[in-house]
Amino acid sequence: MNITVVGTGYVGLVTGTCFAEMGNQVICVDIDQKKVEAMQQGRIPIYEPHLDVLFERNIKQGRLIFTTDLAAAIKPAQVIFLALPTPPGEDGSADLSYVLGVASKLGQLMDSYKVVVNKSTVPVGTAEKVHHAIAANCKVEYDVVSNPEFLREGFAVDDFMKPDRVVIGTESERARKIMSELYAPFVRQGNPIYMMDARSSELTKYAANAFLATKITFMNEIANLCERTGANVDMVRIGIGSDDRIGKRFLFAGIGYGGSCFPKDVQALAKTADEYGYDFRVLDSVMKVNATQRTIIFDKIMRYFNHDVKGKKIGVWGLAFKPDTDDIREAPALFLIEKFLEAGAVISVFDPEAMPNVKKIFGERISYAQDSYEAIAQADALLIATEWAVFRTPEFERISKLMKNKAIFDGRNLYDPSKMAQLGFHYESIGRQTLKNA
Ligand code: NAD
Repeated sequence: MNITVVGTGYVGLVTGTCFAEMGNQVICVDIDQKKVEAMQQGRIPIYEPHLDVLFERNIKQGRLIFTTDLAAAIKPAQVIFLALPTPPGEDGSADLSYVLGVASKLGQLMDSYKVVVNKSTVPVGTAEKVHHAIAANCKVEYDVVSNPEFLREGFAVDDFMKPDRVVIGTESERARKIMSELYAPFVRQGNPIYMMDARSSELTKYAANAFLATKITFMNEIANLCERTGANVDMVRIGIGSDDRIGKRFLFAGIGYGGSCFPKDVQALAKTADEYGYDFRVLDSVMKVNATQRTIIFDKIMRYFNHDVKGKKIGVWGLAFKPDTDDIREAPALFLIEKFLEAGAVISVFDPEAMPNVKKIFGERISYAQDSYEAIAQADALLIATEWAVFRTPEFERISKLMKNKAIFDGRNLYDPSKMAQLGFHYESIGRQTLKNA
């Protein structure tokens, strides 16, 4: 099939590349000229494990091409995917200007039947808005489909190639047939394609993200209670996770959820509820708890230094909002670095992939280390903000020698508190007791 993907970010590039891998002819369009030039030269603008091999192969075999020319890109397309940003607007609702802006251009440009598929995360009712935006200028038949994306950054290729489910929202039989054909190679192992109306499909995506954000937040509250009661959140997690009504995943306590999806999607869903006159109290609490959760580790460090970190060197491990991505949108680390800079601390950071993106924000206000150890040389404290695998089993002896003061504040519960105490570290984590060091 001939496919065009509009918007070549984390979702669009993975979508385009994976469809090309299945033998489709894919054109990816983006307005960012630099990004497009880089991709035309075979360079991937994002870090996403396993994407490189597919990307190179499909470019080489001529199935994946990049352009800034929307008109030329959509001409041969049977299916046009919109993978455009839907950032939070000033009031927290999803900003639809990218999606609707492109939709109205499509209306002018389309000269034969096409299926326009919305992959962006958009509020209930957007498919109708996209339909109207196209209709205003369009002379040919078309269908609008909601097809939310559930991939996770860091596992995007795997998630796209073997989705747990594919959700397709449209009442059009013609579009359903085309979408089923397109996704058939991805569900050969029997995973379902759920056909539904566009409104339910749009809400499915928000419900999934809001539920996961709630699960994390609930566990963070349990962790806070563990600290106060002498319990250990790791034990509680294992205890409840083995109940398959609850499940083991998304139960890790930490410094709050971040990223390009959960914060904005929870906010947008709350806003939708508001617009429909429904007071979604659970979501309001989730947002409040998450905002305070990221300050907990800051407060712990401040207390440890008697509320004075002026001139103290804090090494920060991990900047991305989670491991295996270079995405730093709404990453707790950024918030914490800003707070420590305001308090007068000196910050040295290391992240395996996200440092170039962070440099664009903090510039020379912080220093960027070549590896984890350089970040903590002569440091007064180490703060762990992202659970990259490389931080899980460091050489503690080397850390002891490098740090000026052996204090570790672990926002991701990577180490065993009793082992850390034995090694002579002051070690604080989330939802677990701080033990006296040897
Ligand atoms: P992104 O910011 O990484 O990518 C968006 C791309 O669209 C950018 O390359 C940008 O240059 C391009 N763009 C902007 N305006 C354009 C225009 N007029 N024409 C062509 N290109 C244009 O965003 P993303 O993370 O890929 O997210 C896209 C959508 O998918 C969002 O709605 C998001 O909520 C949703 N989503 C994201 C994820 C994720 O993990 N990132 C997962 C599921 C769903």
